[in-house]
Amino acid sequence: MKLAIASNDALQDLAERVRADLKMMDYATKPWVEPRFDASGNPMLDVVIIGAGQSGLAVGHALQRRGVSNILLLDGSPEGKEGVWGTFARNYEIRSPKDITGTELGLPSLSIQSFYEAKYSRQAWDEIKRIPRLEWLHYLQWYRSVVELPIRNDAQVVDIDYDSDGVTVSLAGGDAIRARLVVLATGMDGGGAWRVPDSITKSLPRERYNHSSDIFDETKLKDKTVGILGSGAAAFDVAVAALTAGAARVDMCLRGPRLPMIDIVREGETAGHLNHSHDIPDRMKWDLAGFRAGLRQSPADHHFFKACSYPNFFIHVNAGWDEIELDGDDIAVKTSEKSFRFDHVFAATGVTVDMSLRPELRKIAAKTALWKDRFTPPDHEGPGRLNFPYLNANYQFIEREPGLAPGIERIFAYNALSSMSMGIAGAVSISAMKYGVPRVVSALTGFLFKEQEDKLIDFFASFKTPSITFPPHVRLMLGMPAEGEPEAVKP
Ligand SMILES: Cc1cc2nc3c(=O)[nH]c(=O)nc-3n(C[C@H](O)[C@H](O)[C@H](O)COP(=O)(O)OP(=O)(O)OC[C@H]3O[C@@H](n4cnc5c(N)ncnc54)[C@H](O)[C@@H]3O)c2cc1C
Repeated sequence: MKLAIASNDALQDLAERVRADLKMMDYATKPWVEPRFDASGNPMLDVVIIGAGQSGLAVGHALQRRGVSNILLLDGSPEGKEGVWGTFARNYEIRSPKDITGTELGLPSLSIQSFYEAKYSRQAWDEIKRIPRLEWLHYLQWYRSVVELPIRNDAQVVDIDYDSDGVTVSLAGGDAIRARLVVLATGMDGGGAWRVPDSITKSLPRERYNHSSDIFDETKLKDKTVGILGSGAAAFDVAVAALTAGAARVDMCLRGPRLPMIDIVREGETAGHLNHSHDIPDRMKWDLAGFRAGLRQSPADHHFFKACSYPNFFIHVNAGWDEIELDGDDIAVKTSEKSFRFDHVFAATGVTVDMSLRPELRKIAAKTALWKDRFTPPDHEGPGRLNFPYLNANYQFIEREPGLAPGIERIFAYNALSSMSMGIAGAVSISAMKYGVPRVVSALTGFLFKEQEDKLIDFFASFKTPSITFPPHVRLMLGMPAEGEPEAVKP
């Protein structure tokens, strides 16, 4: 279906409506944070948010709406290329349901539905089942322009250091920024790296394989035989990309006996799971994480059906890649039952959480509490999960031992690092935002407020202007000096 785009004016009108709605909701949004200065007397930022994808934007906007505007968002990508949506995500539609909310922070005019209706029409919104990925990208770009956040693009953070007074964020190129608090909104790979099994990296030259999250030129797959290891949503995205580009044959191999066909993320989208998953015993968090790891998210149905519509697409179960080698010009793969020869292979094998893989996290990793420091697993399973940071209920890092890392609590992980401690509300997804963003933002404003509690009386005492201007005869009656004259000093 070709959609008629309403004029650009419609989106401008919507932006005006958002501004009017924000004005209507203006109560208690005025600035309240006392300025702070670093050791050299330079003003400090109150909050630096690393990452200007959807999470960074929503956290930044939520702070603005709570009167915290001395903030800065940093993103290593150029403007318009933040996050996954306009870079390597290949799903035609996003997997989340179209009525998903969170980014708009409760303001209907700022929602994806209002955006889509303004851009196309109400009827067009009613007719789509899910939100096209590029519409979600366009929505985020529009959102960014409407809420007017201070963002610095092309600003890759390479180091984060902390002390009891603040956090120093260093950028590639040499700049250093001092902030009181820092939020990591760095996405799915923000706590490690996309994972390609060693068996692939050690056996093949780099140009013969990709991770499903790589940006690659799909046209190079024309007439090629393509092998995909993995069967989750990203595996189907790659399969469709290869088939559409004219691959001769695509074989998807999964280790397990069946395809993941339950969209487990959707089932957890309840106020209970999203708002309270951080608040259950560690043993239950551990068991749940293990259970959910075994239930990979099912593919988006449009990509599943599209892949299956090609006669040259094959799925193989119980087909983990036991042996991989370059044999002449072919990639030879053996599973327990079959042998394959491929021109190119993809690892759709997810992400590894390992803070040592990210230079900017090394100083945090050295001293933060990890799950292995606080929890003994029942049967030594899931060693990878033990390397997740053990965060408190506010997405906040905590010291491994008391006194070891003063200032580490000034850093908040609103990224993949939070998924063990925060459960489903920690998964980096749109789903988590409705409850996750207010939670982390309350923790940030609470921190800032607490740091000025010794000045609360000074704050109230600083207001000298009476709320009522008395006319002269009333001043006389009340024994007050004429306006402009000093109060008599009492003996
Ligand atoms: C293929 C694919 C499809 C997906 N589909 C869905 C879906 O349908 N629904 C859903 O809810 N989720 C989906 N996800 C999950 C998805 O990643 C998130 O929903 C979304 O991208 C998370 O937004 P974010 O802002 O937290 O992180 P991201 O969008 O990843 O943004 C993180 C930003 O941080 C920046 N950054 C990282 N490190 C640094 C650094 N050191 N210095 C400066 N900047 C840095 C990056 O440049 C990036 O712009 C999908 C993920 C993938 C990979």
